This record gives sequence, C-alpha cells and structure tokens, in this order.
Amino acid sequence: MKWYRKLHWQIIIGLILGLIWGLLSSIAGFNEFTSNYVRPFGDIFITLLKLIAVPLVLASLVVGVTSLNDMTKLSRMGGKTIGIYMVTTVFAITIGLTSVNIIQPGKTLPEETRTSLMESYGEGVQERGDAADQLLEQSPLQFIVDIVPENFFAAASDNGNMLQIVFVAVLLGIGIVQIPLQKSQVLINVFEALNDVIIKIVDLIMKLAPYGVFALMAVVIIDLAGDDIGQALVLLKALGWYCITVVIGLLIHVIVVYSSLFKIFSKMKLRDFFRAIQPAVLLGFSTSSSVATLPVTMERVEKNLGVEDEVSSFVLPVGATINMDGTSLYQAVAAVFIAQALGLDLSIAQQLTIVLTATLASIGAAGVPGAGIIMLVIVLQAVQVPLEGIALILGVDRILDMLRTAVNVTGDAAVSVAVAYTEGKLGPLHFDDDES
Ligand code: ASP
Repeated sequence: MKWYRKLHWQIIIGLILGLIWGLLSSIAGFNEFTSNYVRPFGDIFITLLKLIAVPLVLASLVVGVTSLNDMTKLSRMGGKTIGIYMVTTVFAITIGLTSVNIIQPGKTLPEETRTSLMESYGEGVQERGDAADQLLEQSPLQFIVDIVPENFFAAASDNGNMLQIVFVAVLLGIGIVQIPLQKSQVLINVFEALNDVIIKIVDLIMKLAPYGVFALMAVVIIDLAGDDIGQALVLLKALGWYCITVVIGLLIHVIVVYSSLFKIFSKMKLRDFFRAIQPAVLLGFSTSSSVATLPVTMERVEKNLGVEDEVSSFVLPVGATINMDGTSLYQAVAAVFIAQALGLDLSIAQQLTIVLTATLASIGAAGVPGAGIIMLVIVLQAVQVPLEGIALILGVDRILDMLRTAVNVTGDAAVSVAVAYTEGKLGPLHFDDDES
C-alpha cells in the first residue's frame, strides 16, 4: 500500500494542511469563510466521536466485566490501575516542578512588569468567573460523589462524565454475573454484538479523521491569530519560556516515566508503542479531548498493542477521566510560573501542596478541552497565588492543551499495557498493512 493511503499519514497530512490553511486564512483575511465553512467539519468529527464514546464504554465494559467472572479479579485490577495512575501522576508533577524551578520562565519578566502585574492582579481577587467560584465551594472529594449518577440517562447524556458511565457499566456487569447463565446469556450476547458493531462504527468514523483534523487545526490557528496579542507583547517572551518549560517536562515524562513503566511491567519498546497508538495521540492533539479520543485509543490498544478487552475496557475509560499526567504536569508549571511572574516565591511546603492539589485537580478535570485550566484554580488557591494570574497564560493555553491531552492519552494507553501485562492479558503486538 502506498504510504499516503495509510491512515496515520493521512492524519498527519490533514494536520499540516490545516495549519497552513489557518495561517493563510489569517494572513489573507478569509477567516470568516474558514469559520463558516471549515469549522463545521471539525465540529461534526468531534461530535461523532463523542456520540460513539458512551455506547462504546458501556458495551465494552459490560462485556469486560462479565468475562472476568470473578469479582476479586475486578477489584485487584481496579486497585492496580488506580495505584499506577497515581504514581505516574505524582512523577509528572515532580518533573513539572523541577523543570519550572530550573528554567524559571516567570523570572524572565522585567522586575517592573512583575510588580505592576502583582498590583493589578493581587487586588482583584473578587472578580472570579462563576466556574471558579463553584469549584472553590466544593469539597475536594466532590469528584467521588460525582461518580454516582442519580439517573442513568442523564449520565449518558453528560459526555464529560465518563466515570458515571463506568460506574453504571461495572454495576450492570456485576449484576449480570450474579444471575444464572441461562438467563444472563441473552444479555451477554446482546452486549457482545453491540460491542462489535460499535467497533466497526469507530473504523468508519476514523476514515473521516484526516478531514476532521484538517478543520480542527485550521480553526485553532484562526482563533489564536484572532486574539488581541498586542497587549500581551511584553509577556510574549516569558510565555514562550513557559511553553518551552511545559514541553520539556512533557517530553521528559513520556520518555523517562513511560519507558521505565514498560521496563518494569512489560518488555514493550517505546518506539513500537508509539507506532501502534500514533493515531490516538494525533487525535488527542487535534481534539484536545481525552474523552473524544477514547474510541480510537481503545481500538488501537486492543487491536495493535494486544491488550485484552477486559483490561482496556476498564483501564481506558477510567483513565480518560482521572489519569491526566500531562494536565497535572502543566498545572504544576503554570502555578509556579504565575507565582514567579507576580514576584511571589513559593516555599518547599507550598510546592508540596502543589503535588497534592495538582493530583486532585487533574483527577477532577474532565477529559474535555480547557478543563485543566479551570481546575488550575484549586492549585492556585491552595498556594495563595491570585487567581487572576490565569489571565496571563490563557492566550497560549489552547496549544498547551493539545500537547497535554496527547500526553494524557499516551499515559492511559501505557498504563493499560502495564496492567494487562501483570494480569497476563497482554497479547502480541500487531501491525497490519494499514498501520505499519
Ligand atoms: N483537554 C485535556 C484532556 O482532555 C484536559 C485538560 O484540559 O488538561 O485530557
């Protein structure tokens, strides 16, 4: 097969052409056309992915739980999954904190700018957005309360809340295995068939990925260029360093933490791993949403990495909501950057507080675009940095969101390999013609 017919190349081509289109559109002034006639295709593509995400998680998790049969296995796998998720998240935050303390991007600002920023932001603590206010009023354990839906259909219609679907599916699966097989067989068959059908639909949707990614990239560029960057000009250099710090941290995390994870828990090579999940990572990058990417992550992890369905159907949807290594790393860097930019020095105790709060904030962040920056409020509040500092980093957040989401998706897939290996549920790697 010619290289340009392979899906991942088509997605990369779509991504590059989308970038070029967005730039041309901003320079030549046809942003309105792009917004009216290109944006809808990106929106349709994301909507299709979201449409399939809920039924996919439900069917695949019910099939997974019913095939586990034995409930001690489920709780063992659950414990292991959450444990590895937590450990990788703490590593991510530590890497973020180390990078930002070494590079010190906020200190690249001239002293007067820092003082005047502090003067203008320090007092305006009252004027927070509604979302931020709401977050501050909640208990830090609110995310556990939110796992239990009061109405299944309401849960299914709330795309950001994948954990509720996971909860219902696990409960349903447990219920099914508790009744005699004669009765439950028909239900099991239905869910198995549904699962197969959905996987076929994901294949179909993925055929549209190159076009969807083209549109999404074009729109990111016109939205960014449309911003009033004039007033942020003094901050641009500092923001550049801030972005570089996040990128370096993310790269170190992916290379060091995930390859160590594979060294300990499987013999997989990082290169093979990326080759297999590339479309999912690219999609995480272009959609900025772990949840929207979930169907493709599941397909790749099962088909190409050899993780059995009963592991992936549990580990991945849970990961798409609670495991966000990229987000937690970014939150650590962002909090310290804002503090530096405002001329505040954070003590060791405050930096340790960041480890705790960024872990909670990344768990609480939904797998949707921009969730990480909203949850950053929790981290800033805990270390008493003025929340208005968020305004400083808002302009570049979209790009960092793309990068951290790609890492979030990578992390979920990596942990699913580790869990599958320890459970004896990791088959051989598989690259078919289309993906090699
Ligand atoms: N967009 C990220 C995700 O879906 C969450 C975030 O904003 O950090 O994984």
